[in-house]
Order: sequence, then structure tokens, then C-alpha cells
Amino acid sequence: MFLPQEVVRKKRDREHLTASEIRQFILGVGDGSVSDAQIAAFTMATCLNGMSLEEQVALTFAMRDSGRVTDWKRVLPSGSRVVEKHSSGGVGDEKVTLIVTPLVAACGIYLPNISGRSLGHTGGELDLLESIPGYRIEPSRERFEAVVRDVGTAIIGPTPDLAPADRAIFHVRDITATVESIPLIVSSILSKKLAAGADGLVMTVPFGTGAFMRRPGDAVHLAQRLIEVASAADLPMVAWISDLDQVLGDSVGNSLEVLETIEFLQGGKREARLLEVVLQLAAEILVMADVTDEMENAKSLIHEKLADGSGASKFGAMVAAMGGPADLLEHPLKYLQQAPIVEAIYASEAGFIVSMDCFAVGMALVELGAGRAQPRDAIDYAVGISDVVHLGDSVVASKPLCTLHARTKEQWHEAAAKLRRAFVIRGEAGRVPPVLLERLASHQTVLH
Ligand code: URA
Repeated sequence: MFLPQEVVRKKRDREHLTASEIRQFILGVGDGSVSDAQIAAFTMATCLNGMSLEEQVALTFAMRDSGRVTDWKRVLPSGSRVVEKHSSGGVGDEKVTLIVTPLVAACGIYLPNISGRSLGHTGGELDLLESIPGYRIEPSRERFEAVVRDVGTAIIGPTPDLAPADRAIFHVRDITATVESIPLIVSSILSKKLAAGADGLVMTVPFGTGAFMRRPGDAVHLAQRLIEVASAADLPMVAWISDLDQVLGDSVGNSLEVLETIEFLQGGKREARLLEVVLQLAAEILVMADVTDEMENAKSLIHEKLADGSGASKFGAMVAAMGGPADLLEHPLKYLQQAPIVEAIYASEAGFIVSMDCFAVGMALVELGAGRAQPRDAIDYAVGISDVVHLGDSVVASKPLCTLHARTKEQWHEAAAKLRRAFVIRGEAGRVPPVLLERLASHQTVLH
């Protein structure tokens, strides 16, 4: 008889888990015979004791096989390129997926994207998308395949038959301080990407206070592990190490980041670091899909899709096909929730922003309701911050740190005090590191 607690005990005692033990445990997670308490104990033991590469590969494959693997050859025209985009997570970072996927789909590449919910202090694509009334993140298999075929992209979550084990483990990690574990992050990301049936993967692996990896070296280590496990699954992959020691883009929060996505795609404000990440990742996907072998040509193509509005149209078409309103792009404020209290936060002194504690920013927003304290907690889509300053910006009495969107006056004051402490101001501007630091890739990255 298989006893899940034996797997937990072995991991607790730093014994090696066999592929078969891991597979049986994950099978139980998928069919509900392993309890949330056992998942919590397993994730904590893994968080503390780590996993060998062999165990990580076994965990990833078992989680992929907890559901089915999508076969796009059945669904898409022959010769189609299917690539996925992901991020290992960061404050303000999830909107990148919402922007990149329609832009690349507008170039004829297919992007079936199985994404995640908010985790720890970071946001999640699924919560962003669920702030759009009607958007269904768990479509039937037929619907998912039809939307990818007809629109070119569909961003969804794990479903009862696509990576269901990740769905169960993710919820537990979020509320048990077991998020920042490399083997758990690797298996969570890659099990979904492999279940989505992609031919290749392009992603960012952020570091900094806004990310799970605090130092660049930790992010490189995570990226290397992702590439090793992806290579074991024959999945070509490119990873960019990115700096999240400041908020990416101008806003954090679910409705607010959807609004920023729409503005970005429609030619409104495009924050410089966000634009750089979008162009690099989108261009990497085009080069991987063999649309061109020149990064600069690929970036020009993406600029065209931004300028002619076809990226925005693809986003609108995906939202409508997934059950959201057909006129979201024309009337976003008719659909996206807005908070009753919207007021700017001013710094107590003038000067330059020299650092930002994005963990504190993220946690202040989780407390406001933008994230969860318990797995089934409802999210408050309206709350968050917009017009956030960036490192090197000057703040004066007339230029606020950000605008805070809250449900009540009391919550606004509580969050504002925490946010003020998260920004460090000095008389002189410090050096601002680049947003993209280093590129890592598997041996083969071009799909022929
Ligand atoms: N994204 C995921 O899908 N899982 C993680 O654990 C972190 C980021």
C-alpha cells in the first residue's frame, strides 16, 4: 500500500526519492487522495531540503502527467509553430504575458499559455484575467484548442485535465511560505508548459525584492535548473535574467494591470523598462519560431504590430473568445472594477528614488485584497497602485510616489504608511541597473 506520509518522511530526512515514489505521490495529489496537509508537509520538506536534478525531472514529468498533454498537430495547420511565454514571477511582471502573447500571435505564431495565479507577494496572470467579467480561465479542452487555433493565443490556468497537480500544489504553496523553492518553481512552471504541448519556451527569471529569487546569482541558478529540466523533456528554452528591484511598468493590481495592458497595446503610455522586456521576449519568440534570424528584424516586426493595432485586436479577440466582453478595448472602464478611494501618496521629503522594497509593496497589496491569505479567498480586483515612480525619478511635493486604489479610507491609510516606507529617497540619484541582465539558453533554440 502506498503511504504519502512515507514520501514526506523521506524528503524530511533528506533521503533520495525514486521516480516511482514521486509519481505515486503526485498521482494522489491529482486525484485528491493526498491531503492538503500532506502536500503542505511535502512542499515544506522540499523547500528546506531541496531536490536532486533527477528528482526534479521526475516531479516535473509526474505533474505534467497528472493530466493530459495537448497535441497541437491534431488541431493546427501542419508546420505551425507553438511557443510559450512565462515568467517565474514578480511584482508588476505578469502583465508582460498579457502584452507579449497577442503581439506574437499577430505575427502568426501560436501561443497556448497555461499560467498561474498570484503567489506570495507577486501577482498572477489568471487573477489579472479574472478581473475581466466573463473571462473563463478553465475552459473545456475543445474551447481552449479552438481559441488557440482561431485567435492564435489563449491564456488559461491549470484545469481538471491540464496539469491538475500544479493547481492543487500552487494553492498550498501560496499560503504556507513554500513559494521560493527552486524545485517547486521549476516543476510548477515546466509541468504546465509541457502539458500545454509547446515546442519551445521563452521566459524571464526575475531577481530582486519583487521576485522570488532575491539575488542575480539565485535567478541564474533557477534559470539553469529550468533549462536542465526542459532539456530533459526536449523543450528548447531561452531565459532572460531580469531586474525586479523596482516595479515593472506603472501599476500593480489586477484591474489596473489589465488597464495598463490595454493602454500599452493601444499606443498609450509605455513605461520604458516594460517596453524593453516586451520587445526582447517577443523578438526571442519570433527568432525561436524561425520567423527571422535577426533580433532587430524581430523587434521591428513587433513595433509594427504595436503601431498598427493588430496586437491590441488579438488581445480583444482572445478576451471575447474566452467569454469576456467583445468591447473591452473600447470601454475598459465599463467592465474593470474601480476602487472607491483613489488618492496619491506623497513622499515626506523631496529627492530621488534610490531603492524600492517591492516585497513590502506586494505584501501591502495582498493585505488590501489584491492577493490571498487563504486558498479560496476572493480577490479584490479593483485595489492596487498606479503611476508608480521608478528608480532615479525625483519626487517633490507635486509629484507623488504613486496613486493608491483602496476599498476604504482606513485601508488606504494603513497601506499608504507601508508603501511610503517601501521607497527610499536620497538627495542624489543612484545608479539604475538595466532591466535585462543576462541571457541563458538550451543548446538548440530555433524550431525548424
Ligand atoms: N510561475 C509558476 O507557474 N509557478 C511558480 O512556482 C512560479 C511562477
